[in-house]
Amino acid sequence: MNKSIRDLYETYNKTALQAADLNSAAALLAWDQETYMPPKSATIRGQQLSTLAGMAHDLLTSKTYASTLLALGKSNDLEVLQMENIRLSKEDYDKNKKFPSTFVERMMKASSSCFQSWIVARSKNDFKAFEPELEKMISLKKEQAELLGYEIHPYDALLDEYEKGATVGMLEPVFKEIKDKLPSILNKINSASPIDDALFHQHFAKENQFAFSVEVLRAMGFDFAAGRQDYSAHPFTTSFGPADVRITTRVDEDNLASLLWSSIHEGGHALYEQGLPESEYGMPLGSYTSIGIHESQSRLWENEIGRGLPFWKHFFPLLQAHFPDQLKASSAMEMYKACNKVSPSLIRTEADEITYHFHVLIRYELEKQLMEGTLHAADLPHAWNELYKKYLGITVPSFDKGVLQDVHWSHGSFGYFPTYSLGSFYAAQFYEQALLDIPDLENQFSIGTFSPMLGWLRERIHQHGRRYTSEELCKKITGTDLDISIFLNSMNKKYAAIYGFPV
Ligand code: ZN
Repeated sequence: MNKSIRDLYETYNKTALQAADLNSAAALLAWDQETYMPPKSATIRGQQLSTLAGMAHDLLTSKTYASTLLALGKSNDLEVLQMENIRLSKEDYDKNKKFPSTFVERMMKASSSCFQSWIVARSKNDFKAFEPELEKMISLKKEQAELLGYEIHPYDALLDEYEKGATVGMLEPVFKEIKDKLPSILNKINSASPIDDALFHQHFAKENQFAFSVEVLRAMGFDFAAGRQDYSAHPFTTSFGPADVRITTRVDEDNLASLLWSSIHEGGHALYEQGLPESEYGMPLGSYTSIGIHESQSRLWENEIGRGLPFWKHFFPLLQAHFPDQLKASSAMEMYKACNKVSPSLIRTEADEITYHFHVLIRYELEKQLMEGTLHAADLPHAWNELYKKYLGITVPSFDKGVLQDVHWSHGSFGYFPTYSLGSFYAAQFYEQALLDIPDLENQFSIGTFSPMLGWLRERIHQHGRRYTSEELCKKITGTDLDISIFLNSMNKKYAAIYGFPV
């Protein structure tokens, strides 16, 4: 590599690292906001976060940065991975430049007031109090779609923000399969005798639950020298580089499920972050593929592993040791069944792995119509309730258990929900491949050995950072495109065995 190109790459690297450091500092402040910050600091913290975000945005949209990228893009002198970084940074730059700073400011202000109004509206169970702010947010998102540009559907522009390449055209056949095939599995489950999950609903002391989750996270391979777990109202994962990845969990002393699934789910996200190449910190190749692939990692640990019998063969005796009085009369098999109770419910985040996808489908259908302009904020409660009746057969009793339950719309995260389902479908497909590659994988889980699983994920997914798109990665790992029939078949097989109906 000649000297001027090397210098230029260093300039690029330095700017990207400065932006990454600002973003990491902001992420640390945001983590603190959700975990330990005293409540009076909310306003000033919002200002601190917006200052840091603005500084990072300025660095990555500056003229010097643009000309550096342009010159490096023309060079034939770079190494392969360097060229990949430049290609992806150029993509990011082109996207960032589509937003005038006035739009960025308007969006930031709107999401802050929309979020505040959602908090109040939800606590008072009053949709009307949220409606004007939401309508404003919807029109901003339409504006955003126009700024980003799209070929067919305005929703495509928003979907692409979270899952590169995702479009209505790609999602329609996926959700059609859900609509066509999941109800028959659900019907068979509903006609079988119900599962008793009473063992989850006892008193479990907070400290013992937390201690158990730490044992699980350690076994999964979470590195506590490069991360930690704390409590927050809404569990999440954040990262300031692979050497410092934070997860949060929540605890309900009368229901073991809350902490258990939060810790394992966020643990899966965290393992991905800890596995990203540290040498590429701040560069595109040091970042994750997409939100859908991130979700595939959390769902793989949560559903494919954590809701599996081999996992509980190992962990149930350890859980019993923490809660001898509550669990002495139960078995690993009873625990396994309780983990897999399927029953239509109102709240997405508490749904089982079958009905979950109807919750996502409902939001997908509503968002699509909102972006088309065939639905407006005022129509949402009625449309929401109709769809819950249609797909899950349940009546929504109140706004807070219905249309006001998710934070996403108040943040302006339209197009995010489908990645939850895509993540589950990718997880099923990756897991099937892992079982082919490592035939005794599940035997190893039953003796508490999870390192071959993590090693497989590190090698196939984590080490590549953002180099491949979700679709490319899926093809590279499994030889085919995303194939939802793998998920559907595995659900049918699993629940036929649990509920005792023919496959
Ligand atoms: Zn997640």
